[in-house]
Amino acid sequence: MNFNLPEEIKEFQKAVHKFAKERMAPRAEAIDAKAEFSRENWRDLSEMGLLGLPFPEEYGGTAASPLATTIAMESVARAGVDGGTTLAWGAHTILAGVPIWLLGSNRQKERYLPKLANGEWIGGFGLTEPDSGSDAASLRTTAEKKGDRYILNGSKMFITNGAVGDLFVVFAATDKKKGNRGISAFIVERGFAGFSVGEELNKMGNRTSTTTPLYFDNCEVPEENLLGQENMGFLSVGKETLEWERSCMIAPLVGGMEFVLEECTRYAKERKQFGSSIANFQAIQHKLADIKVAIEASRLLIYRVACMKARGQSAMMEASIAKLFVTESAVRVANEAVQIFGGYGYIHDYPVERFYRDVKLGTLGAGTSEVQKMIIAAEMLKRKGF
Ligand SMILES: Cc1cc2nc3c(=O)[nH]c(=O)nc-3n(C[C@H](O)[C@H](O)[C@H](O)COP(=O)(O)OP(=O)(O)OC[C@H]3O[C@@H](n4cnc5c(N)ncnc54)[C@H](O)[C@@H]3O)c2cc1C
Repeated sequence: MNFNLPEEIKEFQKAVHKFAKERMAPRAEAIDAKAEFSRENWRDLSEMGLLGLPFPEEYGGTAASPLATTIAMESVARAGVDGGTTLAWGAHTILAGVPIWLLGSNRQKERYLPKLANGEWIGGFGLTEPDSGSDAASLRTTAEKKGDRYILNGSKMFITNGAVGDLFVVFAATDKKKGNRGISAFIVERGFAGFSVGEELNKMGNRTSTTTPLYFDNCEVPEENLLGQENMGFLSVGKETLEWERSCMIAPLVGGMEFVLEECTRYAKERKQFGSSIANFQAIQHKLADIKVAIEASRLLIYRVACMKARGQSAMMEASIAKLFVTESAVRVANEAVQIFGGYGYIHDYPVERFYRDVKLGTLGAGTSEVQKMIIAAEMLKRKGF
C-alpha cells in the first residue's frame, strides 16, 4: 500500500488549488452574502477543465481518475471557495454527468456530455420528493410509456441547481408494483413540455447554490432519454451515482476542514488573551489537534473509495463509512473552529461562520447519517463472517 500521491496528481493538485485561490476564493464572502449563484465561478471551473473531469476526452472531458477528481474537488474547497459553488459543481459533474457517462447511450453521451463538460449546460439530479427522502424508493412520480415517449407526472423536492439547470437526471416509477425494481431514470431537458421549476428555497448554508422543487405535469420525455435500462434506474443509476456522491462529492468538506484549520492556526497565533497567544493554551492546541486528526482520517477514507472505484469495485459500504465519518467530522470541526475564534467566529466577516452554516448539509443530503449507519450495518451483516 503506497500512501504517496503520484507526481502528476500532486502537480494537478497544486495547479487547481492556486487557480481556485486566486480566481474563485476572493468572491466567496460577497456571493454568500447575496445568496447568488456565481456565473463567474462557473466560467472559472470550465476554464480550468474541472466541469467534465471524469468524462472521456472524446466527450470533452479530461478522463481524470476518480482519485484525481476527488483531489480537484478537495483542492478547490481548500482554497476557501464557498460550499454552494462546490455543491453546484458536484451536482452537475457527479450527479448528472457521471450517470450519463457510465450508463448513457452513445447518443446521450454525444448530446449531453460535451455541453456539461464546457459548462454551456448545467446539470442536476432529481431523486428526492416532498414525501420520499430517506425512503427514496417510495417515490410517487410516475412515468407512463405512450408511443415513443414517457409521460412523467409528479414532483421533486430540494433539487440542487434547480433554478439554473438545463438538464436533470430524474427518477420515476415505471412499474409501481415492483418497488425499487420498478423505477427508471430519465434525462429531462428544461425545455420539455410539462416541465417546470418551483420557487427557490431560502437555505441556512450553501447559499450560492440554488435549491428548488421540480414539477412534472404530463411532461413528455422522448423514449431515447431513458437512462440505462427500464425499471433498473434505482438499482443501477442510483447506486453508481450515490457511491460517487458519498466519496468524491464530500471531498470539498475535507478541503474545507483544511482551509478552516489554516484559518484557526493563524488566528490562534495572532489572538492574544491573558498576555499570551491563545495558541499557547492547551485547550486550544487540543482543538487544533482534533481538527488535524479529523482531516487526515477523512482524507484516507475518501481516497480509499476513489481507488476502489478506479478498480471497478463496488464500494457501497466504504462510501457510506466515508460519508458518515467525513460529514460528522466536518460538523464537529466547524463547531470547534467557531469556538477558537470566540465571538468573532459568530460574525459573517469570518469564513469559519460560513463553514459552520455550509457543512451541516453534509449529514443530511445524499442519505442522512442515520441512513449511512443503516447501509453500513446491512452491508456488514451481508458479508461473510458476520
Ligand atoms: C440543500 C439541499 C440540497 C439537496 N440536493 C438534492 C438534489 O440535488 N437531489 C436530490 O434528489 N435530493 C437533494 N436533497 C435531498 C436530500 O438528499 C434529502 O433531504 C435527504 O435524503 C433526507 O431526506 P428528507 O429531508 O426527506 O428527510 P427524512 O427522510 O424525512 O428524514 C427525517 C429524519 O428521520 C430520520 N430517518 C428517516 N428514516 C429513518 C430510519 N429508517 N431510521 C432512522 N432514522 C430515520 C432521518 O435520518 C432524519 O433524521 C437536498 C437537500 C438539501 C437540504
